[in-house]
Amino acid sequence: MPAPRCLVRGSMNVDEFFQGKRQALLKFELKEIVRPGETISSENLVKRPGGKGANQAGALTRAGAIVELVGAVGHDAVWVRDELRDTGISVENVSIVEENTGRALIQVNEAGENSIILYKGANYASIPPYEIHPDTTHAVFQNEIPLSSTIECLLRASSSHISTIFNPSPLPSVEELKTFPWKQLTWLIVNSGEALDLCKALSLEVAQDSAASTSAVNNAKPLLSALSSHMPTTNVVCTLGADGVLVQFVLEGDMSNSTTPTYFPAATLQGTIRDTTGAGDCFTGYMVAGLMRLHGQNITVRDYDAVFKMAIQAAGMCVEKRGALASVPLLAEVEARLK
Ligand code: ADP
Repeated sequence: MPAPRCLVRGSMNVDEFFQGKRQALLKFELKEIVRPGETISSENLVKRPGGKGANQAGALTRAGAIVELVGAVGHDAVWVRDELRDTGISVENVSIVEENTGRALIQVNEAGENSIILYKGANYASIPPYEIHPDTTHAVFQNEIPLSSTIECLLRASSSHISTIFNPSPLPSVEELKTFPWKQLTWLIVNSGEALDLCKALSLEVAQDSAASTSAVNNAKPLLSALSSHMPTTNVVCTLGADGVLVQFVLEGDMSNSTTPTYFPAATLQGTIRDTTGAGDCFTGYMVAGLMRLHGQNITVRDYDAVFKMAIQAAGMCVEKRGALASVPLLAEVEARLK
């Protein structure tokens, strides 16, 4: 059997970080974010590949998976594609288009607050038709490209029995969410805010939990139940920041009738929280890489347990470091921490 392969159809950007002091790479410290009418100096400008598609593809690669990214850059930043290729991502189906490359201008102040201007650019350009590699077992989507392009690829993948994973961030419009082909989706990954907004957009009835508002986990449980009754064949994953992860599994066998979600606590950090940027993308990359390792096997609940524990450990390590892709740990580092 060929090795499992993941397709990521998504966005790629130039992330431009304006930084105050050049003490250490990725120490973003502008004293303040620029206000209307004001000009402030940035002592340093760092450019890196970014965008949720590239970040999740990068996290998958660091987690040991074989990954292909399908997307587009402009002539102005072909280096983004090349740098991603150098990290081991297949980029044969990254098109070079007339539009400028997507771009995020990111200012971070001393308090750690950020302000971002996002230019969609080439991510919204149409790209030539592409083949899905025959060894593809998993396909991952976010929402930084036109939703029609995501749906087109998702339907093609699903009809080829490829597992589909959707992290609808930023959340599509209410109309788009209402007509999304949820039935073709194997895994949904949302954070707690997205879970709530998704329930509202789909006009789902959310049961009042008597323990509601006592904890983030109790607040999220009825949202997961509502989502999984709307999409009963989709595994629903809800990330809860420092509170961990809740998963409503759809499994053959012993868990199939389970209506209660499984809770996984967050990792215990070594040191302080430095930067939560990219923790969600790191989690997604590691989760999917874990699912890929299980491909073709008879899966039990225990196997899933190990996948989620590893993804949570990786995401925890990601918040201990600054940066998005740069803070995603390597598989061996995560394994060493889990020992
Ligand atoms: P997003 O960035 O997409 O909003 P979350 O904030 O829910 O996603 O974070 C994703 C995952 O990262 C969490 O489920 C958790 O495992 C990990 N994580 C995030 N913040 C922390 C934290 N402060 N401590 C430990 N783990 C964290």
